[in-house]
Amino acid sequence: MDIEKKVWEVLCSEKEIELRIEELGAAITEAYKDKNLFVVSLLRGSFVFAADLVRRIDLKLKVDFMTSSSYEHAEESSGVVKILKDIEEDLQGYDVLVVDDIADSGLTMRHVMDHLKAKNPESVKCCVLLDKPSRRKVDLVPDYVGFTIPDKFVVGYGLNYGDYYRNVPYVFVVTDQDRTP
Ligand code: 5GP
Ligand code: MG
Repeated sequence: MDIEKKVWEVLCSEKEIELRIEELGAAITEAYKDKNLFVVSLLRGSFVFAADLVRRIDLKLKVDFMTSSSYEHAEESSGVVKILKDIEEDLQGYDVLVVDDIADSGLTMRHVMDHLKAKNPESVKCCVLLDKPSRRKVDLVPDYVGFTIPDKFVVGYGLNYGDYYRNVPYVFVVTDQDRTP
């Protein structure tokens, strides 16, 4: 589908995202003020969110990136998540906060958090910009959530459609309606 020919419905505007990230940053700053924060951003979807979020956290912190991919087998209810790029640093002594764009089935976040816990940090928590709790397949309640959204495929602010539209500065859904020229 050529989504440029369809009406885009804005779900989270630039201003709403900015204000919510300010709140999340303040909450994380308060919660981690006596800790040793290590932010792990999951590529590629969370690069925009993570970049804005860390600048709203008023603490000395480290940032690194991980890449994972998920394989959904049509006939199975659970997917398999593979780590393609891992954290290089020893996490002992750090309080890890995993940042992702969206929690959908929860498989990615669950797998990444369990993988990082095995490295024996002080703690592992997570923060997602968007949460679709109605789609959950595993036990995951994100510690920090920007917006809880309905079961719709969302695009923009880091989230892709095909390989594109990650740079759109707001989150939108594509409607069935044709755009009038
Ligand atoms: P989960 O493992 O929670 O099912 O899915 C996590 C990943 O699936 C997200 O990091 C994201 O890359 C992708 N994803 C899930 N829902 C959406 C969506 O509505 N839009 C886009 N663009 N990606 C999604
Ligand atoms: Mg992702």
